[in-house]
Amino acid sequence: MYSAPNTRNRSQGSVRIAQTRVRLSRAGKAEKIAAILEAFYPEPAIPLRHEDPFTLLVSVVLSAQTTDKKVNQVTPGLFALAGTPAKMAACSLEQIRTAIREVGLAPQKARALKMTAQMLVERHGGRVPATFEALVELPGVGRKTANVVLAQAFDQQAFPVDTHIHRLAGRWGLSRAKNADGTEVDLCRIFPRALWSKLHLQMIYFGREHCPALRHDLTTCPICAWAASKARIRDEMRSLSKASKASKVSKDTP
Ligand code: SF4
Repeated sequence: MYSAPNTRNRSQGSVRIAQTRVRLSRAGKAEKIAAILEAFYPEPAIPLRHEDPFTLLVSVVLSAQTTDKKVNQVTPGLFALAGTPAKMAACSLEQIRTAIREVGLAPQKARALKMTAQMLVERHGGRVPATFEALVELPGVGRKTANVVLAQAFDQQAFPVDTHIHRLAGRWGLSRAKNADGTEVDLCRIFPRALWSKLHLQMIYFGREHCPALRHDLTTCPICAWAASKARIRDEMRSLSKASKASKVSKDTP
């Protein structure tokens, strides 16, 4: 089952005050954002091609610091060789590494995949467990990966948060958390549980198609045009104008 991130280090009093104040404004914002994302992506597809929970788990592990497109190019060959935990566990490290050599961090990922496959065979009867706690015990499986597997392979509601969703949540004023775990706590609080898994995909697609790390126009964006705070608009305008001055100077410099 899904388990919420640890929030014990926050003081109860300050959490309650912050929730009352921030939640009112954030709740309305969240509702409007969910409606916009639903209009943009009514049926978001799962980007990583897979056949079952194991092949999804492997694809998510491979997707760290590389594109889904690259993962989808590599996995058919890998799954022809090792499409089940038993077959992956029987492969040598070298065989796995060679099959995934085009994705970044291939040696580390090959090691994690082999150890994960061995653990699945030894402890879980060759199947991927459907609980958060058991998933995060597998090598190479962190909070985000476990949540993706629960949401996309087992139809459980979960809100996987990667650096892109963390960035979007901050830009939209839905979270001020300093890291992805804190953002997950905030997003799970403000969005209804029934929307978590779908919203995660919708945010990924919106981020990829509309929200680059740089060069975005807050005034025309379907979300930030109304969701961004005045302070953020001011800050972004300032840094944009600094960046354009800097590039002018460097072009003018002989
Ligand atoms: S303005 Fe649009 S593109 Fe830029 S951060 Fe906001 S949502 Fe993303």
